[in-house]
Amino acid sequence: MNESIQYVKGIGPKKAEKLNRLGIYSIRDLLYYFPRQFEDRSIIKKIAQLENDEKVTVKAIITNIETYTVKRGMTITRVDVKDDTGFAKLIFFNREYIKNTFRVGDSILAFGKVKKNGGFIELNSCEVEYLSNTPKNIGKMFPVYPLSYGITNKDISNNIRNVFENKDIKIPEYLPKEILEKYRLCGIEYAIKNIHFPQNKEALKIALYRLIFEELLILQLGLFMYRSGSENEKGIIFKKDNRLDDILESLPFRLTKAQSRALDEIIDDMCSEKVMNRLVQGDVGSGKTVVALLALSECVFNGYQGAMMAPTEILAKQHYESFMETFKDIGITVEILTGSTSKKQKEIILEKVKNGEIDILIGTHALIEDNVEFKNIGLVITDEQHRFGVRQRGKLSSKGNPDILVMTATPIPRTLALILYGDLDISIIDELPPGRMPIETIAVEKKKREKVYNTLVRKEVEKGRQVYIVCPLVEESDVLDITSATETEEEIKNEFFPDLRVGLLHGKMKASEKENIMNDFKNHKLDILVSTTVIEVGVNVPNSTLMIIENAERFGLAQLHQLRGRVGRGKYQSYCILIYNSKSEVCRKRMEIMEDTNDGFKISEKDLEIRGPGEFFGTMQHGVPELKIANLFKHMKILKVVQKEARIIIGEDPNLEFKEHKGLKKEIELKFKNKIDEDITMN
Ligand code: ADP
Ligand code: MG
Repeated sequence: MNESIQYVKGIGPKKAEKLNRLGIYSIRDLLYYFPRQFEDRSIIKKIAQLENDEKVTVKAIITNIETYTVKRGMTITRVDVKDDTGFAKLIFFNREYIKNTFRVGDSILAFGKVKKNGGFIELNSCEVEYLSNTPKNIGKMFPVYPLSYGITNKDISNNIRNVFENKDIKIPEYLPKEILEKYRLCGIEYAIKNIHFPQNKEALKIALYRLIFEELLILQLGLFMYRSGSENEKGIIFKKDNRLDDILESLPFRLTKAQSRALDEIIDDMCSEKVMNRLVQGDVGSGKTVVALLALSECVFNGYQGAMMAPTEILAKQHYESFMETFKDIGITVEILTGSTSKKQKEIILEKVKNGEIDILIGTHALIEDNVEFKNIGLVITDEQHRFGVRQRGKLSSKGNPDILVMTATPIPRTLALILYGDLDISIIDELPPGRMPIETIAVEKKKREKVYNTLVRKEVEKGRQVYIVCPLVEESDVLDITSATETEEEIKNEFFPDLRVGLLHGKMKASEKENIMNDFKNHKLDILVSTTVIEVGVNVPNSTLMIIENAERFGLAQLHQLRGRVGRGKYQSYCILIYNSKSEVCRKRMEIMEDTNDGFKISEKDLEIRGPGEFFGTMQHGVPELKIANLFKHMKILKVVQKEARIIIGEDPNLEFKEHKGLKKEIELKFKNKIDEDITMN
């Protein structure tokens, strides 16, 4: 199975290279290259019953064949057929050889798309074959593969057929016998054979069920296995501390009802003996940070250390500063650890964390490096959790047995959250702090760009407000007409606003440079900040009221919403201008959604609708293997069964070390492995 595809009959180096580009390297990859869909060619209709636009099979006799040239290099071959109900014409472009393959009087099966043309019935994009007892491609469920790089459907089919004809190749069964029997799943060999060459509809269904079950089981087991701790493990029992009220008093605002509710739920969890595993979901700007701060205080008041992990340095820094502000008078010590902390500084911090001199450690993924040792960690918070990989998450919390809190602005349907985080509890902050005016969003075509700059930007700056301009890329690309941040900054500074203070921020800058620029913007030493999406997550500058997003068509809806959340954080009316450069219907629709709603949950749903669950799932949580055949929405029933089973398996054998689980474990490691590199290089 792990041999190169060149081992398969008929695949030479050239073909192998093409297949490689589809991600097919081993025989195993080939067998697991599943059809995108199945064309039902099994329904045979009488000619008189045919309906316009349907794709269908007819059984008929050839009455006439003719080829004529339409123009140079283009011929049409017309095959007239009849059955006992009527006549039809099969139309072929540039396939003259048809004339030599079939004769008048032959009985055939033809599959094609029906077009009713006046009184005539045509069948287009046709496939024909002789009527026989064992039809090859017609009269059955026909697999349609995702294709490109000059690989045809037939290529894939033939290659796979050759694999099956080679008796040396055995597909090992890795599902335990007990599970196969319990859920009446077919064997792997039957499943793979029938997904590529379905005997009939029933066989295809049985094969699909097995493969979907298997894929979901591997996903779920992997997530359980790499997750920290087990669900019913005993954790620290905190005691509610009155000093929390003092902090609440000292805040410049009162918590919203939703924030208070979330905080109560968190404190209750912390005070129970169960390990907390809670997700806080709240739209951008709903005030999750202060809830985190309060939970961390509770932890420290009980004599434990807390940690908070943010996906970017800017964000970590921002949390650090706002925590310092609150904690400086209370005697809680806070430190920050990121990729750019100097080696010497890092050593000092690590030492202090280890002997308990630091109460709260904030940082990026530098926090989960192995040499961070806490004296007594009590609570771990991850902000914008979906940005971290599955394995990273487990790592930080495995340093002790702390309570876990994750915070996200990406609304995740509960069922999906269950897969990702297991049996976690969810708090929802569904209310924005009072006095916020909803952000007004306007989408404009690129040709109005200049006007936007000259009027809106100018106006806001004159009122003393600040402006973000977000671009998709850092440097100008020759291939695509995408406005790059660097170029835009030059243009803004030199052409539009030589009199204003303009700064540039992007991911390729040094951390210290980023920090300086961010500080300048925060302290109103800049009027306009041109940036890439590095400012997407959590940055908080309440005086900024206008966000302009260039090439908005290049961003996902959820991302646009996140970006837009950088404005509207203060008491002023804020605006988001989406400049788009596309005439497509889909683009227009997406822009309209952004104009119409400020509700992150709704946007997330729409995004899901437009992009489909596969892609959506990937952007929500890094490090999850891609689903090839299962669909988290369509196959919810199977998923529920799988989850129950996965829980039983993990309960008995947390690291899948039993003999009968060896095969499964190997599969899981294989599927999750490919994603590890990406996890490590994120940010
Ligand atoms: P997010 O949920 O997106 O992380 P933040 O925690 O950054 O949001 O909060 C956004 C802004 O709202 C911050 O400036 C914060 O100080 C402010 N804020 C938070 N809670 C309240 C509240 N209850 N009343 C007023 N302002 C608040
Ligand atoms: Mg936040």
